[in-house]
Amino acid sequence: MILDDLYGEVIIDHSKRPRNCRPMADANHRADGHNQLCGDKLRLYLKLEGDRVTDASFEGSGCAISTAAASLMTESLKGKTKEESLTLLDVFHEQLTTDTPVRRDLGKLVVFCGVRDYPARVKCATLAWHTLKSALVTQRVTTDIVTTELVPTEMVTTE
Ligand code: ZN
Repeated sequence: MILDDLYGEVIIDHSKRPRNCRPMADANHRADGHNQLCGDKLRLYLKLEGDRVTDASFEGSGCAISTAAASLMTESLKGKTKEESLTLLDVFHEQLTTDTPVRRDLGKLVVFCGVRDYPARVKCATLAWHTLKSALVTQRVTTDIVTTELVPTEMVTTE
């Protein structure tokens, strides 16, 4: 299992002590993601100033991989523009779903490349990223964190 290897240590660390795991009252983008295959659920919060992500956080419940993925994703998004974030999403998704050579310039995100050998876990690792796309694309500005917004299922479960 991938949790036994070197990269697994980073995943375990982020799953046990997830970074940016908190609701964000002043988020202006938000989306919910649900991976029905595993039962992972998360709500992603983004604060964009102009075109740049100045803060990112999440809350939810899920397996170690989905939690670690959300933790590392929110860390890597801060300071990126919307376009840079979507580009990173594409690169990350390609790394996990194809046999393309591992890109070391992914930084810490490279720890998830081992997941490609476990197709059932790919959805766990990409849930946060699918939710990110939803949050960025909906463009919805909202500060109401009580209302549940439904994300089309296909956006968060389709590879
Ligand atoms: Zn999972």
